[in-house]
Amino acid sequence: MIQFDNKQLEKLHSFLDEFKNCTICPRNCAVNRFEERGYCNSGVDISVSTICVHTGEEPVVIGDKGICNIFFSRCNLQCIYCQNCQISSVTEEVVDYHFKIEEIVDMIIPFLNDGVGAVGFVSPSHVVPIVKMIVTALKMKGYSPVFVYNTNAYEKVETIRGLDDYIDLFLPDFKYADNALAEAYSEAADYPEIALAAIQEMKRLKGTTLMVNEHGYATSGVIVRHLILPNQAENSLEVLRRLAIEITPRITVSLMSQYYPTYKAIGHPELGRQISPREYEAVQAEMERLGLCNGWWQDFESPEFYRPDFTSEQPFE
Ligand code: SF4
Repeated sequence: MIQFDNKQLEKLHSFLDEFKNCTICPRNCAVNRFEERGYCNSGVDISVSTICVHTGEEPVVIGDKGICNIFFSRCNLQCIYCQNCQISSVTEEVVDYHFKIEEIVDMIIPFLNDGVGAVGFVSPSHVVPIVKMIVTALKMKGYSPVFVYNTNAYEKVETIRGLDDYIDLFLPDFKYADNALAEAYSEAADYPEIALAAIQEMKRLKGTTLMVNEHGYATSGVIVRHLILPNQAENSLEVLRRLAIEITPRITVSLMSQYYPTYKAIGHPELGRQISPREYEAVQAEMERLGLCNGWWQDFESPEFYRPDFTSEQPFE
């Protein structure tokens, strides 16, 4: 197994000090996570549900070999339609393995040696010190892949600022422009303002232009994702408008149609179906009208393809 000397281990473990009075995310629990738990129900361990090479992200992100994604257990946003609910709940049992830093690095390095060019942190908002620890540990061993921060965007500006030296590519969602919807679906009434400020900071750090290498794969920048929800096309239209007006129409946007009802959305009066072609077309048209021309939209058939099972060793196969 990979080894670190005592000085290196001391540096790596010092990142955990941030957990002693945890105000990492906008929940601002101010708890000592060595002793108690806040909203995210997480301690200080490297708590992960799966590490795998994922080919289901945008082509510019995955390159030709996929991205090595680390899916953290639990989340600071509790969306009732979460498509990763097997790993994200803070109130129910989730798929959750605890690792030492040496073990995590040991699992990632073979993928990098195999030519995978990016490491992605998925649902990282409540474990930012661990993200910094893993990035630092990989760099100590001479590895510098593209580090991707795949977040729900319910993040504090100062936390994002603190990631500048660790993260190359930010991949934030922008889920809601409607406060009541954000509260009803994700227990976060202040989500629209918080997420926009976080995305603004990501843009300030990495710029508007998505940087790519000679093969066309992203090396630095910001890609904003938006998942269209059924019966909520108006929210999607407003999300796009706020991105165009408050961030910039030149920001890269990935429009996602892969919604399907799962978790608490099954049988839900609004969320209990897939999106309709009409809803999808209305959102696409607004994206064009606003001049948000950097980015992509998923094929309408996408719900058939995104059905991960995190109890399996290969959740996406
Ligand atoms: S990371 Fe967890 S404990 Fe810390 S402020 Fe956010 S929800 Fe609370």
